[in-house]
Amino acid sequence: MRSLPYFCRGLVIRGFGRGSKDLGIPTANFQESVVDSLPADLNTGIYYGWGCVGNGAVHKMVMSIGWNPYYKNTKKSMETHLIHKFKEDFYGQMLSVVLVGYIRPERGFSSLDELITAIRSDIEEAQRNLDLPEHLKLKEDNFFRASLSTTSNQIMNGH
Ligand code: ADP
Ligand code: MG
Repeated sequence: MRSLPYFCRGLVIRGFGRGSKDLGIPTANFQESVVDSLPADLNTGIYYGWGCVGNGAVHKMVMSIGWNPYYKNTKKSMETHLIHKFKEDFYGQMLSVVLVGYIRPERGFSSLDELITAIRSDIEEAQRNLDLPEHLKLKEDNFFRASLSTTSNQIMNGH
């Protein structure tokens, strides 16, 4: 995809409580302005990359970009699962991510088990791919060190 790698950051807002956390895979939702700034050629589906909360450590992540059922599928949402165990929630904090690669399109599932199996396999694929040298170097990118006062993802995407 032409737009990858794609850098963005924004505040974490509350999702619609679909209980992702109960499945052991919490997904942090980005505020609307981040979603609205997505390039048109960035397909919906599952991505992998790197992400950090505030000034914290950079972790591997998987992200789902999809049509938000809460808004009758008229609005996209971006939901990030950081592959790390956090002690506390981070609603209202700044999340910085770089989308590195595409895993698969969105799809429906006939059971919860099937969904969880798919997510586990997405996470494994992310873990493997991100260890490649060309992807590891994005973890060290200056983007993750840049001043967090720069909240405009427009500016960051010119990076
Ligand atoms: P919501 O519907 O509000 O998005 P979730 O059950 O998906 O609820 O939980 C998401 C929240 O969990 C995030 O906004 C964040 O504050 C917290 N969280 C804790 N650990 C993680 C993690 N590893 N990845 C993403 N979010 C996490
Ligand atoms: Mg969520």
